[in-house]
Amino acid sequence: MSTPRPRAGIVVTGTEVLTGRVSDRNGPWLAEELRLIGVDVAQIVVVGDRPDDLHQALRSTVDSGADLVITSGGLGPTADDLTAQVVGDFQGRPSRLDPDLESTIAAVVERLSAGRGWRVDPEAMAAGTRKQAMVPEGAHVLAPIGTAPGLVVPPADGRSGPPVVVLPGPPRELQPMWSTAVTDPLVTTAFAHRSELQQRTLRLWGTPEAQLAATLRDHADLLDGLEITTCLRDGELEIVTRFGADAADRYDRFAEVIAADYPDTLFSSDGRTIDDVVADALLERGATIATAESCTAGLLAGRLTDRPGSSAYVLGGLIVYSNEAKQHLAGVPAEMLERVGAVSAEVAEALAAGAADRLRTDIGVGITGIAGPDGGSAEKPVGLVHFCVTGFGATLARRVHIPGSRFDVRKRAVVIALHLVRRLLAEQESPCSSTT
Ligand code: ATP
Ligand code: MG
Repeated sequence: MSTPRPRAGIVVTGTEVLTGRVSDRNGPWLAEELRLIGVDVAQIVVVGDRPDDLHQALRSTVDSGADLVITSGGLGPTADDLTAQVVGDFQGRPSRLDPDLESTIAAVVERLSAGRGWRVDPEAMAAGTRKQAMVPEGAHVLAPIGTAPGLVVPPADGRSGPPVVVLPGPPRELQPMWSTAVTDPLVTTAFAHRSELQQRTLRLWGTPEAQLAATLRDHADLLDGLEITTCLRDGELEIVTRFGADAADRYDRFAEVIAADYPDTLFSSDGRTIDDVVADALLERGATIATAESCTAGLLAGRLTDRPGSSAYVLGGLIVYSNEAKQHLAGVPAEMLERVGAVSAEVAEALAAGAADRLRTDIGVGITGIAGPDGGSAEKPVGLVHFCVTGFGATLARRVHIPGSRFDVRKRAVVIALHLVRRLLAEQESPCSSTT
């Protein structure tokens, strides 16, 4: 039997995170970083800025058997920033002023405020700096990225328990500081028995989760040593597998089974997202693309241009929300709109053709639908969306009824359109592309 992997627990502090005003980016980010170095995350706890709550969260994380505890947030100069003090108390190490650290922070604050015309009260600034320079006795200091230093706080001599790594809340400070923290001797000792794990991701489009579950059951004998999690998101089924070096061959066999069972729906086996796959296919083909979007009103064009270098293939997009815009910008005939209505297969096709024609691209995409919550009818309910992708002499059309809120419908519509573009390009992998 292999040795158990080390475990870490994460305590995210901040009333703004607890109440959902800020969504937690530190817990998931740290969990992923830990996974990459072979450390399991036992739990992520979110607590508000109350000393008692933080203390209890530290207690429960230690009790869960964590080899290391990591906190985020609450290291600023203000009174509600109390993490360093609470962690020091928790580990039995009272805080003391570190004069060198105080000068370092004062210099950073000086640099940050210089030339900004801030009206600062020198007394208040000095008090804030002094607070941030209070270090639990015997803790290791991690150099500040902003003004807040991080800490690695071991339990007081004679006590048992894991060290606590204390990191600042802003992700742009926490992330670079974590790379220093992992090299701290207290941290490397806590993780001494770690084993590197690999992770691979397969992505399918259009396979129901239940069907995949049946496949996994059928091949249970293959899966020994593979930790598989599946997740359905925006209609895409993601299979994430973690395994140690000894199970690498088994993973390859598992990936072959999925490729053989789902040749039509497996669209990525190397971790690439649909966005990556579409961008690569457009670049490979040297193809250009334009959109004419009604219910998504530019969201697809926005997504296609998320990545740097997209100007090589995205030439433009038309936002054609009203019937007039559909006519004037994309050339949809008024007669057609009158006859079949804006949300129809014909209009989606006319939008796709109009986008390609007006922007002179190889591929045109048309999207028209009812995002809701109003405007639906028995014949054309909320969530009904027509898609058309046209180019290289081919046309793919879809009529989809997307469940959920207005937000869900628009977001999911973008993903469906991306998959249709991918399909069109995949079906176009004809011999003529190699002659160019
Ligand atoms: P500061 O010196 O800025 O006060 P801090 O270490 O005290 O830093 P917090 O006060 O907890 O950190 O958070 C400061 C800001 O950083 C928050 O308002 C928020 O914008 C961001 N932040 C904090 N925690 C998180 C988190 N878990 N996920 C995303 N953003 C966060
Ligand atoms: Mg703060």
